[in-house]
Amino acid sequence: MLRPTPPPRMIKLKSPREIGLMREAGKLVARALDAVKPLAQPGGTTAEMNEVVASIFKDAGATPLFLDYPNAAHGKPAFPAVICTSLNEQVVHGIPNRRPLKEGDILSVDTGCRLNGWCGDSAVTLAIGEVDPVARKLLDVTEETLNLAIRAMARCRTWSEVASLMERFVHSQGFHVVEKFVGHGIGQQLHEDPQVPNFVSKELKRQDFVLEPGLVLAIEPMVSVGTKDVRVLGDTWTVETRDRRPSAHFEHTVAMTPDGPRILTLPDGVPDDTLPGPQRVD
Ligand code: MG
Ligand code: MG
Repeated sequence: MLRPTPPPRMIKLKSPREIGLMREAGKLVARALDAVKPLAQPGGTTAEMNEVVASIFKDAGATPLFLDYPNAAHGKPAFPAVICTSLNEQVVHGIPNRRPLKEGDILSVDTGCRLNGWCGDSAVTLAIGEVDPVARKLLDVTEETLNLAIRAMARCRTWSEVASLMERFVHSQGFHVVEKFVGHGIGQQLHEDPQVPNFVSKELKRQDFVLEPGLVLAIEPMVSVGTKDVRVLGDTWTVETRDRRPSAHFEHTVAMTPDGPRILTLPDGVPDDTLPGPQRVD
C-alpha cells in the first residue's frame, strides 16, 4: 500500500527500543507472507491468501493496516482486504478475489500490520509454477534492486545515492522503474515522511535526506518490463501498466542503526543484520 500525495515533510527518527518494537511487527509481516506461499500455485486463490493473513494478524493481536485504507480518490471505496495482490501486469493495490491462479502467473503480495503500536510493511512477488524467462528475470531484477539498495545503505550518505544505484541497475537490465508510486518512512503510522523514490529526480534532489541512525524506511521498488506508465482500473484501486506487460514489486522495512542497515521484515530466527548478498541476474 502506497501513498500517492506528498505531505509536508517531518522525519521522525526512532530509538533503538522503538526499532526493536518495529522488528516484532516486521517478524509478523514476514510470517504472514511466508504463510501465503503454499497457496501460490496453480488453483490457489488470492482470497484464500487474504483469509490466511487476516487470521495470523488477528491471532497475534495485530491490526491489519491495509483493510479500510482510505481511497486517494475522493468518495471512492476504502481498500477491502488485508493484503494487496497484484497479478502480472498489475503493479500494486490489486484486490484479492476467487479466480484461481494459473501456471506462469506472477503475483505481488503486499501487507502490513501494527503490533503494540508499531508498524511493519513488506511485499514479495511470487512465481506461480513455471514462469517464462522474461518474467523470471523481472522477479530476479526487482528483488536484486531492493537488495542492492539495502546493501548500499551501509555505505551511501544520502537516499539519492541509493536511488541512483537502483535506477541504474534496473535500466542496465533493460527494464523500467515505476515512478508513480514510491516507498515511505514508517513507524507508528504506515506512511510517514520521507517519500522514498526508487529513481532520481529534481524533486528528490530538493528533498534528499541523510541515512542517519533511527531512520526507518519501507523500500519498495516496482519494476516493469515495458513502460513505467501506469493507470488505475475501474475498481479505483488496482494499478496496472499502460502496456499491460508484467511488473513486479518487492519491499522490506529497513532501519538505519549505528551498525548499518537492519531489515525488520525478515522472518523470526533470521538476524536483522543479515544483509542479502549480490544475486546473480542472467
Ligand atoms: Mg509500503
Ligand atoms: Mg507494502
